[in-house]
Amino acid sequence: MFRCGKCGAFNRVREPRPSGAPECGRCHGALDISGAPQEVDGEGLDRAILGSPLPVLLDLWAPWCGPCRAAAPIVDAVGRAQAGRLLVLKLNTDAHPRAASALHVQGIPTFVVFAGGREVARRSGALPRAELERWVMMSLAQGGAGATV
Ligand code: ZN
Repeated sequence: MFRCGKCGAFNRVREPRPSGAPECGRCHGALDISGAPQEVDGEGLDRAILGSPLPVLLDLWAPWCGPCRAAAPIVDAVGRAQAGRLLVLKLNTDAHPRAASALHVQGIPTFVVFAGGREVARRSGALPRAELERWVMMSLAQGGAGATV
């Protein structure tokens, strides 16, 4: 399952993939199936959390935050490694302060795992890739109602 970065629709991509570039069934835009993190605003985030058939890893960040920038390639790598199984979203807390305060974000970077439309885990501070991946898996195993990664 892949989220369309343009319209937010979830698309099931068959394996093996049909020839040609995958496109979104709703808006017919090119569908990014790389697993790369997608930037969202508050509304896009709410819709994705509630509508996602996949567990969601949210990265709360800001452009001025050094540890956030250091974490970005790690978050990107986890998203690509889990493409189609985990949806990785990024919310710029400077650009979308209301969404950040709705989530009671204390500091950044903060990572939040959602499954089945609810938060199952969160932690703050940059961390190595293996640790981030392990934390996401454990959070889903413990708190994700039926979610599998
Ligand atoms: Zn679309």
